[in-house]
Amino acid sequence: MRILVTGGLGYIGSHTCIQMIEAGYHPIILDNLCNSKSSVLDRIKEVSGHRPLFIEGDVRDKRVLVDIFQQQNIDAVIHFAGLKAVGESVELPLRYYDNNVNGTLVLVSAMQEVGVKTLVFSSSATVYGDPASVPITEDFPTSATNPYGRSKLMVEECLTDFQKANPEWSITLLRYFNPVGSHPSGRLGEDPLGIPNNLMPFVSQVAIGRREFLSVFGDDYETKDGTGVRDYIHVLDLSDGHIAALKHLGKKSGLHTYNLGTGNGYSVLEMVNAFEQASGREVPYKIVERRSGDIAECWADPSKAEKDLDWKATRNLQSMTADSWRWQSNNPDGYPD
Ligand code: NAD
Ligand code: UDP
Repeated sequence: MRILVTGGLGYIGSHTCIQMIEAGYHPIILDNLCNSKSSVLDRIKEVSGHRPLFIEGDVRDKRVLVDIFQQQNIDAVIHFAGLKAVGESVELPLRYYDNNVNGTLVLVSAMQEVGVKTLVFSSSATVYGDPASVPITEDFPTSATNPYGRSKLMVEECLTDFQKANPEWSITLLRYFNPVGSHPSGRLGEDPLGIPNNLMPFVSQVAIGRREFLSVFGDDYETKDGTGVRDYIHVLDLSDGHIAALKHLGKKSGLHTYNLGTGNGYSVLEMVNAFEQASGREVPYKIVERRSGDIAECWADPSKAEKDLDWKATRNLQSMTADSWRWQSNNPDGYPD
């Protein structure tokens, strides 16, 4: 199968391309490089033995999309391209709605024009807002607390309406919990621009000495040790979830929604401790104020994906932290320019 992977040079997209190539799929990448580097392609080639076709372009550019569909005989699309920084989305909401919502609408309209009817969309556990309880199942109520989350929710709603009107389409909404880790080769990983927003890239940069200490956002939550609890999932398990979705649902029309998580919750301090063990480095931290908009705990009930997609996360906390450290220590400044 020939799959258009939008945002395929980013963190999750690049790992998914590797897993797809190994599983016999043929990824074709569209990325505008707003949060990635073209040298990622060399690494994909190095690790998988195959250099996917890469088109530098924007998912909001319908002409580019239609050309790709017409020239590349695409069977399905995995749509990773999007902006993901919560804080920036509060400052620049229009940028997020344009890129994430409008970008998806342009993509779907180009697919409609050429008759490609299978789409897998990168959604997020953020659509559950502050859940009333854990673990979270797919039928929990949805809400948004910031423009990033709202953009994901809006796309989910647009795609749901669209699929209802076009019942022959197969649209899968994958709600990711907290992706961490890297390819075990140490050649691919997460390479955030500027100061990392997420916990694990920040912890890695403290361990390597790029930052002095971690600020732990609050230790007075109603959780096991007072710090926030999340469902961290190895990025390769997440990647495999996309392949499982294509395999089981690619030809099955309908609107399908799945949590991709492990079902385990770890606190900030447990993650710091696990990272210290994997790296043999100390990760100094300071407890600071809660971060506004944060929730106490969030983890998935992933049983629907296991039942329908025959998928479940298999990589443990030790491999998540060891693989992150291998990437960080071998590439202290991330990918080359
Ligand atoms: P990333 O920033 O590493 O990758 C996104 C890629 O999309 C980048 O390479 C970027 O250059 C590209 N891109 C962005 N806008 C584009 C556009 N308009 N046209 C073409 N390319 C564009 O992010 P990631 O962590 O790999 O996340 C991938 C997707 O998963 C995003 O949609 C994100 O919102 C979603 N998601 C991520 C997380 C997470 O914690 N990483 C959690 C839940 C959901
Ligand atoms: N966190 C933290 N310090 C940081 C970044 C994150 O203490 O520098 C905490 C945050 O409060 C949350 C957890 O780590 O409890 C995961 O945060 P992240 O931003 O990675 O994911 P999200 O909050 O989106 O689930």
